[in-house]
Amino acid sequence: MNILLTGGTGYIGSHTAIELTNAGHHVLLFDNLSNSAEKVVERLSQIAGKNLTFVYGDVREAEKIRKILQQYQIDAVIHFAGLKAVADSVKAPVEYYANNVQGTINLLEAMQLADIKTLVFSSSATVYGEPDYLPIDESHPTSAVNPYGRSKLHIEEMLKDVASSDSEWRIACLRYFNPVGAHQSGLIGESPNDTPNNLMPFLARVATGAYPELKVFGNDYPTSDGTGVRDYIHVMDLAEGHVAALEYLKEHRGWHAINLGTGRGYSVLELVHAFEAASGQNIPVKFISRRQGDVAICYADSSKAAAELNWRARRDLADMCMSAWLFQKKTDSES
Ligand code: NAD
Ligand code: UDP
Repeated sequence: MNILLTGGTGYIGSHTAIELTNAGHHVLLFDNLSNSAEKVVERLSQIAGKNLTFVYGDVREAEKIRKILQQYQIDAVIHFAGLKAVADSVKAPVEYYANNVQGTINLLEAMQLADIKTLVFSSSATVYGEPDYLPIDESHPTSAVNPYGRSKLHIEEMLKDVASSDSEWRIACLRYFNPVGAHQSGLIGESPNDTPNNLMPFLARVATGAYPELKVFGNDYPTSDGTGVRDYIHVMDLAEGHVAALEYLKEHRGWHAINLGTGRGYSVLELVHAFEAASGQNIPVKFISRRQGDVAICYADSSKAAAELNWRARRDLADMCMSAWLFQKKTDSES
């Protein structure tokens, strides 16, 4: 298939591009480079052993998307493009809704005009809000505690309406838990343009000495060591989940929400210790107060993905840390 990846040079998009190419698909990377760099395209071509096509652009440019869909004879779209920093979304909600929600509306209009009705959307475990029970399955009630989460929920709801309006649509909302790690080559990985908000990329920069310490947000949660627990999933497992979702949509119309997680939670300190073991570096930590909006524990019931997509996360915490560290070292040695 010819697949358009909006946000294709970003963290998850780039890793998914590799897995799709390995599975025999042709990918078109579309990105405004607001949180990624064009050099990713060269890296991807190096890993894939063939040139990947990149088009610079914004999902808010409806006409441009419409033209691309036709010009490249796109069969399906994976929509990664969006802004994802929770704290920024609280400060700039309009920017978040314009980028995430309006961007998706434009994309849907363009897809409708081009009669392309297969879409995989990057959703998030954040749509579950504060968990009522664990592990979290797809029937868990949804709610949002910040504009970023609300943008994801709005988009999911919109996509549900789209799928009910026309039975030709095939839509998967993949609810990612905590993607971490990097491709085994160390050539691509998580490389935000600003200071990382997420734990793993920050941790990796503490390990190189770029930051003096990791600030751990809270050690008074009701968990084994008091620090927050998350379901960290290797980005290459996540990438494979997208290939499986596209296969699934070939056989299934309608709207589908599917968790992509491992089903296992680790605390912040467990991740720190695993990273120390993988990198051989000491990670100084400082406990500070809880970050607003953080939940104590979050991990997936991943049985739907196993049953419906025939997909399971295969890589462990050591793989996640080793690959993230390899990528960080390579990035540092080049700068
Ligand atoms: P990322 O920032 O690395 O990738 C997103 C890409 O989209 C970037 O390359 C950015 O330049 C591009 N982009 C942003 N706005 C755009 C626009 N208007 N037009 C075109 N391109 C645009 O983030 P990621 O971690 O790869 O996340 C991908 C998707 O997955 C996002 O929608 C995010 O909300 C979702 N998600 C991420 C996580 C996570 O922890 N990384 C968890 C759950 C869901
Ligand atoms: N965290 C932390 N220090 C940081 C970043 C994150 O202690 O600098 C904690 C955060 O409180 C949460 C976990 O690490 O318990 C994962 O946070 P992240 O931002 O990576 O993902 P989230 O689950 O918030 O989407």
